Amino acid sequence: MRGRFAPSPTGDLHLGGAFAALAAWLRVRALGGVFVLRVEDLDPPRVVPGAEGRILADLGWLGLDWDEGPDVGGAFGPYRQSERHDLYDAALLRLEEAGNLYPCTCSRTEIARIASAPHAGEGGPVYPGWCRDPANRKAGRVPALRLRIPEGPEAVVSFVDGFEGPVTEDVAAAVGDFVLKRVDGLYAYQLAVVVDDLAMGITEVVRGADLLDSAARQILLARMLGGTPPAFAHVPLVLGPDGERLAKRHQSFVKGTTVAELRAAGLGAQEILGVLAKGLGLGEGTPLTVGQVLELARREGLRPRGPWVMPEGWLR
Ligand code: GLU
Ligand code: ZN
Repeated sequence: MRGRFAPSPTGDLHLGGAFAALAAWLRVRALGGVFVLRVEDLDPPRVVPGAEGRILADLGWLGLDWDEGPDVGGAFGPYRQSERHDLYDAALLRLEEAGNLYPCTCSRTEIARIASAPHAGEGGPVYPGWCRDPANRKAGRVPALRLRIPEGPEAVVSFVDGFEGPVTEDVAAAVGDFVLKRVDGLYAYQLAVVVDDLAMGITEVVRGADLLDSAARQILLARMLGGTPPAFAHVPLVLGPDGERLAKRHQSFVKGTTVAELRAAGLGAQEILGVLAKGLGLGEGTPLTVGQVLELARREGLRPRGPWVMPEGWLR
């Protein structure tokens, strides 16, 4: 069994990230698997200098450890996406050779216009496959590369999420041919995460519920790359004391939304762990060492219930 935590170094480790990391770590450690830390620095303009080091330090301060990662190495490295572009190119080539990749020269405005409003999903309009026909491509424009989603039942993905239960999605209807390489030359998150999870032999992905609607796309892409997709389990979102998704504006009335801020406000690792553990159905929210949380996880298994709400005591 191999699990992972895959933070983007776009800022400090926030509570949602710590919650997902703890859940992923507990699953691996309870089952005697291997825990991988992968840094998803795919989008250079969004990378914050020093964030990677601070995320790793905050995880360590909480008591989490990993067997493979950018700082400790391992047999499946490198462990930063910025150093794995060869693998992404190889995957794109493979898809292209199978006829499953095509260049798209549509602008955002054109896509919005082509896509009929009733189909517009939450992630924006469903791309209607306009550029599947080479005659529709505009010469002289740098293309994005899109995945050709199969027609019919092959596009329907069903899986059982470890925490959310059964999920079924028709990827063709929900998102359509999605982008794997962007116009600006950057690899899409969907491509990199699937290639890396396959190449690193990840068997279980535990992460935040904000990524639940990416799982079907990732399962489909993994299969199209000839791989076996990992199992998925999505932990609930972390909410502020007002029940709203934890966001920047909460900073004015909570002690912090990042681990570093909470630590600076005087909270200890065991206090934070105890509260995070309760969100996974472990313990009562009183301070716990990481060993105690692991012991509970071994005995009881993880049972996250509903959204995780920040305790009153963490208000300013
Ligand atoms: N790098 C992504 C993030 O920080 C997580 C990707 C994943 O877990 O699949 O939101
Ligand atoms: Zn197009």
